[in-house]
Amino acid sequence: MNAPLDDSTPHKPSNFLRGIIDRDLEQGTYASRRWAGTPGDAQHQLSGQPDPAKVRTRFPPEPNGYLHVGHAKSICLNFGLARDYGGVCHMRFDDTNPEKEEQEYVDSILDSVKWLGFGWQSNFNGQQQDHLYYASNYFDFMYRAAEALIGAGLAYVDEQTPEEMRANRGDFTTPGKDSPFRSRTPEQNLARFREMRDGQHADGSMVLRAKIDMAAPNINLRDPAIYRIRRATHHNTGDKWCIYPMYTFAHPIEDALEQITHSICTLEFEDQRPFYDWLLDRLAELGLLQQPTPKQYEFARLNLTYVITSKRKLKQLVDEGTVEGWDDPRMPTIVGLRRRGYTPEAIQLFCERIGVTKADSWIDYSTLDIALRDDLENKAHRGMAVLDPVKLVLNNWDEVFSNGHLEPCALPALPHPPEGTESPVRHFTLGKEVWIEREDFEEVPPKGYKRLFPGNKVRLKGGYVIECTGCAKDADGRVIEVHATVVPDTKSGTPGADSVKVKAAITWVGVADGVAAEVRLYDRLFTDAQPDAGGKDFLASLNPDSKKVVTAFVEPSLAQAAPDQKFQFERHGYFVADRKDHVAGKPVFNRVTGLKDSWGK
Ligand code: ATP
Ligand code: MG
Repeated sequence: MNAPLDDSTPHKPSNFLRGIIDRDLEQGTYASRRWAGTPGDAQHQLSGQPDPAKVRTRFPPEPNGYLHVGHAKSICLNFGLARDYGGVCHMRFDDTNPEKEEQEYVDSILDSVKWLGFGWQSNFNGQQQDHLYYASNYFDFMYRAAEALIGAGLAYVDEQTPEEMRANRGDFTTPGKDSPFRSRTPEQNLARFREMRDGQHADGSMVLRAKIDMAAPNINLRDPAIYRIRRATHHNTGDKWCIYPMYTFAHPIEDALEQITHSICTLEFEDQRPFYDWLLDRLAELGLLQQPTPKQYEFARLNLTYVITSKRKLKQLVDEGTVEGWDDPRMPTIVGLRRRGYTPEAIQLFCERIGVTKADSWIDYSTLDIALRDDLENKAHRGMAVLDPVKLVLNNWDEVFSNGHLEPCALPALPHPPEGTESPVRHFTLGKEVWIEREDFEEVPPKGYKRLFPGNKVRLKGGYVIECTGCAKDADGRVIEVHATVVPDTKSGTPGADSVKVKAAITWVGVADGVAAEVRLYDRLFTDAQPDAGGKDFLASLNPDSKKVVTAFVEPSLAQAAPDQKFQFERHGYFVADRKDHVAGKPVFNRVTGLKDSWGK
């Protein structure tokens, strides 16, 4: 279906967007563009030189919340295409809606894009350039564009009430009705629009509308509003404006001013594309923009099971205290995924694997976990941690060794170190008392049980073979101590270590050198795979067990972790030293995911 990929994209899976870009490059669709590189100055396009970038894409979030995993798909797509085609991806804030936008969001969005591994600098012919833009810097140009449309009889000020406007818009089966204000002259409209700008009219009392066709089958072409009155302080332009452009008017202009070639968005904007084209064609005819104008292409948004990807709903979880903030490790925000322990590489891998299509679908959450495991399998150091500890006492220890003896033990941190390198080694000690998992002892073993029960032998991983002799219980019959004896001359890695055959090796941590750690066992935030589909109340399916905190014991190498360092806790899964709360010696870990997908079983 697609044209063959060129040499610069050898490993990238093909998709319909790459097909479109290949075609445009082949046909030289944008080869005539000139680029002066200073959007914001409305004249920049008319004076420029040839654009050295073959492809310009953009990532245009509205700074009204934190980015989520859905945005990650859009980021990987837009920045990835620019990277692979020798182009540039513009980082642009679509900040045309003053009420909901904040600097805090701007900062976190920039941080998240960088953390994911992308940047907005270009370097053409040795010239470094930053491509960080704000839609609000184009307000002057947008205003001029609006006046130009009015002058050409292509826009008018409508003073119908919002109710009248809604009623007269019609619906899918009924055409709309012309507004009584639709036949005003350009002079009358221009005067009115300037009054709007100068603050002479109340918020909501009138709007500027494009004059297209009230009977158009596509409702978005029935004279869409393009400017509204809104007395609100803007985070960038302050109180300079009391009128603001509508998103559908602003966005195409932003793309055109920045000379975007391929404007990629999610499918819900498909019905807006005719207006996108109408507007840019008219402004080009009026000499305000150069041809060829950008073109919009839509792809299916990411829907991930057990996750909600709406900034508004995520904000509700934060505002109502359902989670502990935007970076709560259960949140699907980029900051949340980061704190949970997902890596940028895993998220990029995930986005590559899910691909880009035009068909809406749900991606199983396990796809993200599989990408994480694939990324960390050979990178994360191994370590032993006991999450549900019970003490094991080796009753003959002081007879076999000297009193209080601590036997040094070692295991490789990486079972499969990169070729030509050797694994770092973890050191820990074995003494008379160790912590083991409660589930590794059964007084009366179920059928097939191979771990500790009276009379059975197992290996303490990396240490000695031991033989279970019994246990001690409290008044309620709960096991408080497991008893065993050490079998001499069976230490891992020494001659004769295998002379005693065992069927299991269990993980453990020495009481002498193990360190108590807070371990946060996170699970999915919702029990419903599609928590908000079809208007469902997502709060009704909150998982009551999405966070469990346990006090575990970890081996010394884990206790000395750096914040944000990832590990595989043997047999338990992947864990990360919490970025905020972990300090070496006083460890705090988050569970990223288990070793296998266990959800739904
Ligand atoms: P929300 O509806 O949660 O506010 P949004 O789409 O309005 O999200 P924007 O800040 O406008 O948020 O999004 C920036 C870009 O990210 C847009 O181009 C949008 O299409 C894309 N995007 C948002 N959500 C998803 C998603 N779930 N999958 C893929 N792309 C997405
Ligand atoms: Mg949006």
